[in-house]
Amino acid sequence: MMSKNFSPYAAYLVFIAVVFISCKPTVESSLIADQDKEALAGNAVDYFGPLKVSGNRIVDSHDQPVQLRGMSFFWSQWKGKYYTNQTVNWLKNDWYCNVVRAALAVEAGGYLTNPDAEKEKVFTVIDAAIEHGLYVIVDWHDHHATDHEKEAKIFFAEVAKKYGDKPNIIYEPFNEPLQISWSSKIKPYHQAVIDTIRTYDPDNLIICGTSNWSQDVDIAANDPLTGTNIAYTLHFYSGTHKQSLRNKATVALNKNVALMVTEFGTTDASGDGQVNTSETEKWFAFLDEHKISWCNWSVADKVESSAVLKPRASATGDWLPSELTQSGTFIRAKIRSQNQRFE
Ligand code: MG
Repeated sequence: MMSKNFSPYAAYLVFIAVVFISCKPTVESSLIADQDKEALAGNAVDYFGPLKVSGNRIVDSHDQPVQLRGMSFFWSQWKGKYYTNQTVNWLKNDWYCNVVRAALAVEAGGYLTNPDAEKEKVFTVIDAAIEHGLYVIVDWHDHHATDHEKEAKIFFAEVAKKYGDKPNIIYEPFNEPLQISWSSKIKPYHQAVIDTIRTYDPDNLIICGTSNWSQDVDIAANDPLTGTNIAYTLHFYSGTHKQSLRNKATVALNKNVALMVTEFGTTDASGDGQVNTSETEKWFAFLDEHKISWCNWSVADKVESSAVLKPRASATGDWLPSELTQSGTFIRAKIRSQNQRFE
């Protein structure tokens, strides 16, 4: 029974305590339930097989639409410490990722300066993805790739020769073009790199960046590339890009091109600022509706809110829940709730 002098403030504290106690076990039990998710035999690449483009969808070897969900690594020259076999394995086993993205830095001390060192990091991730059965996006992480066409062709020729017979590989020849012409600048670059890749690999997916930081998918859809298994890159950051960008994506889908979100953040376009979970949920609803695959930016311990790891988190996985950022906790839960779990 409540005493006569029980203050409203004390009542408020009791209310908060009751809410806290009643919520806490729910959170813990949902994590336990997640861990009990039944594991399928094999791995994601065995399960879906070689991917293709069919109309405005990516489809599996049974021509069924497939939606991949996973993580993008950060610029290789700055956070290359995470480009390890163990991190890829952890992202599969603990996050249930079925795709990762290796972001080969090109400028700013990247491949143009240290081709062998940067390439080796990407090859480590590719080899790990093949070993553990994930798809891997090989991303030429550049904002000025039209200035580096020769180098891009050399790199992608090497990747296609070495790995083109593996269903795991997805090529991404141009991360984020800036505000330059699709038809006169970006499209000819892609067509040249596609021709090089197709010399050695006739079939794996090639996802092509679009103007305005890979947002102008509607412009690309008006003047599409020629070739098979070609799709277009859509990037968004939930704090900045909202319904108007989803509308552009809808225009592109209605022109019958396939899209892939090779990179998105839960934050502002800077990669920092508040984590906007409500707008990200709107994006997830859109991506789920249209079966659009995605990778979240990024596997990094940089002090910025889009990074999924807190500073000094291990470079070999085994991350504790307390080592994940707000965005990392949110994204991990999303992937675990929707992706199949494999042994
Ligand atoms: Mg192939």
